[in-house]
Formats: sequence, structure tokens, C-alpha cells
Amino acid sequence: MKIAVAKEIEICERRVALIPETVAKLVKQGLEVFVEAGAGEKAFFTDTDYETAGAKIISDSAQLWSEADLLLKVSPPQIREDGRAEIELLKPESVLISFLNPLGNPVIAQQLANRQITALSMELIPRTTRAQSMDALSSQASLAGYKAVLIASAALPKYFPMLTTAAGTIAPAKVFIMGAGVAGLQAIATARRLGAVVEAFDIRPAVKEEVQSLGAKFVEVKLEEETVAAGGYAKEISEDSKKRTQELVASHVKNSDIVITTAQVPGRQAPRLVTEEMVAQMKPGSVIVDLAAEQGGNCACTEAGKDIVWNGVTIIGPINLPSSMPVHASQLYAKNVTSLMQLLIKDKTLQINFNDDIVDAACVTHGGEIRNQRVKDALQAVAV
Ligand code: NAD
Repeated sequence: MKIAVAKEIEICERRVALIPETVAKLVKQGLEVFVEAGAGEKAFFTDTDYETAGAKIISDSAQLWSEADLLLKVSPPQIREDGRAEIELLKPESVLISFLNPLGNPVIAQQLANRQITALSMELIPRTTRAQSMDALSSQASLAGYKAVLIASAALPKYFPMLTTAAGTIAPAKVFIMGAGVAGLQAIATARRLGAVVEAFDIRPAVKEEVQSLGAKFVEVKLEEETVAAGGYAKEISEDSKKRTQELVASHVKNSDIVITTAQVPGRQAPRLVTEEMVAQMKPGSVIVDLAAEQGGNCACTEAGKDIVWNGVTIIGPINLPSSMPVHASQLYAKNVTSLMQLLIKDKTLQINFNDDIVDAACVTHGGEIRNQRVKDALQAVAV
């Protein structure tokens, strides 16, 4: 069986699916690993590092894709410069493991099914205790939450910590985190480490204790509807609840030096939490970092991939922040992927067992079919 690590061609993608350390572990298990030449370059892992770990370097990209029994990637397959779709390069009935964004881009699932690919989507790994080591959404969201605070601190024309100096006392920065999931909690922890006074808000009441345990104040809104969906994710809330939460958070946004928004609802446009009116109320020099920029933005003024200044407020809409820390992002992703692979490989051969709840949940296409109902629904919605 040939395991292959593809070089990412997406322009913003600096991560690589396996690092030399994880390659060495697979080789030790007697598995054959092929790495596309230059695959780890942008994450500072050289071809020599992979060779030393026991991988074979393949310069011909099309050969690597077409001969792989199990192909590993980070970003979803792309269209190449020569116009060829990477999916078309895959060997029929081979296995692909990658982020695939199947709810946001269900057409990719149809293309993979048409090609008879067994595709496992890292976004669909269940958020269960047994699947924790495979949870790439969490490992990458944590990096994004950390980096969001650093970006904000660099853009803020102020100190973060309280300082008492001979030249006077500096008040600590006020940071407001909206959405206290994995990224939000890491953002709270990072802002606290830098000495800021931190408040956080989420529609899931269960996160209150986690927020408080990190030393932040929880801004609570009592809604008369269920806000938690299956798997512990947030639900999309009613217009009335949206209005109530916006009224509640407005004063916190206004009084903050930094607002970091991380709110998401899987498969939906990101909820709009910060309106233009709220931004207009913020002090000039304040900073917003919108981690939901790629999903439409939590802030009305966000432009994905851009830093803009609006009424004196800097609004940053980063794309693929984990990729800006490619060394550790790749290390963590590689661990997530290899943990998943351990469920798929028995006696050095691929065995896809749908009785395993993790494999069942993560496998989006198999045998020419899309297996996930939500992806099927999303595809139908696109077709209409
Ligand atoms: P996410 O990225 O889907 O969303 C980020 C946060 O935004 C969430 O906390 C969500 O509640 C919040 N949000 C959504 N709509 C909002 C709104 N209108 N206003 C304010 N906040 C809003 O979330 P995530 O970080 O991927 O975590 C999703 C869930 O999975 C959480 O319950 C988390 O604890 C759980 N989880 C469990 C495990 C595990 O058990 N192994 C691992 C990771 C995450």
C-alpha cells in the first residue's frame, strides 16, 4: 500500500499533511510513505528530512497522485495551473484524507463520488473523547485563536498589560472575545497571558465555567430557545434572539480596545454579531480581528483577507491563520491524520470499517456515493 503526501498548491497554504517525525513512525510500522518533492518546504521540513525519516521523494506530482492508495492533504484538492483538477489525478477507489469543506462546497463531494474515491473529511471527525487525537478542527482553531490575539496586539496602538512606571500608570487593554469555542478559549488564554482584562460571550451557556476558569468575565445572555445542536455545536438562533444578543453585546464592543470574533455555526454563514453601528461606537485605534472572515464574517465591516480601517477602527479579516504557523500547525495536523489512519490500516492494508463511529462519520464518499446526509442536503440546495 502506498501512502502519499501531496504538496499543497493552494496559495495561502503553508502546512503539510505529515511531518518527518510522523513519517518515521509510519515507516517503523512497515508502511511505505511517498512525499512529493518540496511538500514540506513552506513548513520548513526539507526533502532530506523526509528521506532521513524513510520516505521516498517523488518529483512527478501526477505520478504521486495517480499511484497513491492513500493520499494525504491539508487543503481540499485544487485545480492546477494546467487546468487539470487534482481529483481527476486520483486513482479510482483510492482513499483521500484532507480538509474538504464538504458542507461549504458540497460539489467537491459529488466530484469525489464520481471518481469512486473514499474520502474522509477532517471537518467531519466527531467531537468525541475517543476522536480527540484526530480532531483537526480543534488543533487548528487553537492556533488561530492564539495568533488572532498576537495580530490584534501588534495592530493596537497601546500596551496590553497594566504597567506602573515612573512616567505614569498604563491601564490594561480591554479585550472582548465573541464565541468561546476552541479558538475563543485559546484567544482568552493568550490575551490573559499578555495581561489584558478579558470578557467573553457565547450563546452556549455551558462555556461560562470554562471562560471563568481562564480568568475572563462571562457576558451572559439568557435566550428563550435551545442554542446547542447535536455534537455540542451552536444552533442558528432566531431573529429575535439575534436582536437581543446584539443589544447586550453593544456596550461591551464599545468599551473594548480589541474585539476578537470566532463565532461559527457549522455549514452556515457566520452569524453577524458586530454591526456597523457598533463599530462606529468604538474608540479610534481599536482593533477587531474577525476569525469568521472566510465564512462571511461576524462583523459587518469585515473583508476576508484584508485589513481595513473604518472610522479609525482597524478591522482584520485573516484567511487561514493556522497556515501562518506552519511548523506547529503541520505537527498537530500530522498527529490528527496519523491517529485517523490507525483506524483505517490493519495488517498494512486499508480496511474501511463503517462499524467504527469515527470512520462512519468522517467518510463523506465511498463506492460512488455521498454518504453524509447533511452534505447531500447541501448539494441539493446548491443545485436548486
Ligand atoms: P465553532 O467553531 O463551531 O464555533 C465557535 C463558537 O461560536 C462556539 O462556541 C459557538 O457556540 C459560538 N457561537 C455560534 N453562534 C454564536 C452566536 N450567534 N453568538 C455567540 N457565539 C456563537 O465551535 P468549536 O470551537 O468548533 O466547538 C464546537 C463544540 O464542540 C463546542 O461545544 C466544543 O466544546 C465542542 N468540542 C468538543 C470536543 C471534544 O469533546 N473532543 C473537542 C472540540 C470541541
